[in-house]
Amino acid sequence: MGTEVVAAPAAAAEVIPAGGTVCHAVLFPFMSKGHTIPILHLARLLLRRQITLTIFTTPANRPFIAASLPAGAAASIVELPFPQDIPEIPAGVESTDKLPSVDSHFPNFALATERIRPDFESALENLRPRPSFMVSDGFLWWTQDSAEKFGIPRLVFYGMSNHSGSVSRAVAVDRLLFGPESADEMISVTQFPGVRVCKSDFDDWARSPDPKGPHFDFVMKSVVASSRSYGSVMNSFYEFEPVFVDHLNGLGTQKYYSVGPLCLADVDDDNCGKEAVLAAESKPAWIQWLDEKLAEGKSVLYVAFGSQAEISEEQLEEIACGLEESEVDFLWVIRKGGGGLEERVKGRGMVVGEWVDQRGILGHACVQGFLSHCGWNSVMESVCAGVPMLAWPMMAEQPLNARMVAEKVKMGIRVEGSGRTGFVQRGALEKAVRKLMNGVEGMEVRRNAKEYAEKARKAMEEGSGSSWKRLNLLIHDLCSKAKIEY
Ligand code: UDP
Repeated sequence: MGTEVVAAPAAAAEVIPAGGTVCHAVLFPFMSKGHTIPILHLARLLLRRQITLTIFTTPANRPFIAASLPAGAAASIVELPFPQDIPEIPAGVESTDKLPSVDSHFPNFALATERIRPDFESALENLRPRPSFMVSDGFLWWTQDSAEKFGIPRLVFYGMSNHSGSVSRAVAVDRLLFGPESADEMISVTQFPGVRVCKSDFDDWARSPDPKGPHFDFVMKSVVASSRSYGSVMNSFYEFEPVFVDHLNGLGTQKYYSVGPLCLADVDDDNCGKEAVLAAESKPAWIQWLDEKLAEGKSVLYVAFGSQAEISEEQLEEIACGLEESEVDFLWVIRKGGGGLEERVKGRGMVVGEWVDQRGILGHACVQGFLSHCGWNSVMESVCAGVPMLAWPMMAEQPLNARMVAEKVKMGIRVEGSGRTGFVQRGALEKAVRKLMNGVEGMEVRRNAKEYAEKARKAMEEGSGSSWKRLNLLIHDLCSKAKIEY
């Protein structure tokens, strides 16, 4: 275990709450990009409020974390060894985006993280000042036991919306998924008038009256631990989903703090939309390409399915054909496969196989649409950029996010045939792209996206924004409680 102090906190700037202790937060993100990125944004917000931070991670994830913090941040990064010899997981893999298959290997990977617990607890024991609170990922369920052992209030972070949290809970409590309906038949969610889902929106374990298996075991561990926690930090804002924020808080079980969109945390800092503002010669090729499209007066569709989606070669080929036939210009960020696509789409489209600055791309003036898997970070980033979406959910709670985007806030259009097990035909994609980029429906969702962008900006506004105030409340609630009894 190694400890690196990135920079010592300036004593005069530390927050000294009423009790007289320094406010010190422990952050422990899960080892996947979609879970780590928003926690690092939360780190920025806490640093701006002069909170002392300690961020726990593992050796291979440390460089990403160190590079994402603002220069000179008063944060310590503590490295804990990642477990070795995990069944079926190649040595050296410490992040889900490096797994050969997220679908097959996730439970083994996630369950093995429990082996970090002894090192985590010896580090916690020695931490000074004593932590005032901990924000750890819901997937690191065992951190709840550690928090209880040391009397540290734990806030859970899942990186999900209030909507998907509320709806998933409601269908489970009311046992809505065990009826005679077929996988795609609509079911009304009785607790939320107007909200409808279908069985295929949910994972297999949620649809079985008698679920079993490692994935279900893992989910149960996370859920049970979360229910014992102090509360949850949500990457969302009140104005985006008021019914669901109120619902979760109204349960009276725990506190839910909607403090986002967290991606707005670095708008004033050094690395937001970095690629878009670099000098021309040092801009990545895709930003230069976007600049050219802008100069030609063209609109571009951004196509990206997050950091871990698995897409078959057959489906990639169909996407390429659908995009070509839609006759729009597009920038497609692809993680795996798709050999030869680059050549095929030259001129109208650009295909990138590297890690990109997604927020920089969404913020580029010529990007006018986002074909997305609806990972929650991507939804929030699209909202903040005021870019309407084409919703193509693939796994996890993405089908519920897609419903939120297309049916609730109406800032996007659902791609027909898309879903957990769906295959999208080129014609369906072409139709959806044309609707979004050129159609009347596209104009309507574009208008809504822009309105939500403004609401998101206001929510994060210093002093008056709903999320700004909610984070202040969190600090107020927890910085005076250096120790709680569980
Ligand atoms: N991301 C990025 N560059 C990439 C791929 C992904 O910056 O090349 C970021 C993206 O902006 C988002 C996160 O990675 O913040 C992906 O999270 P999301 O919830 O959208 O999807 P997941 O990867 O968890 O499925």
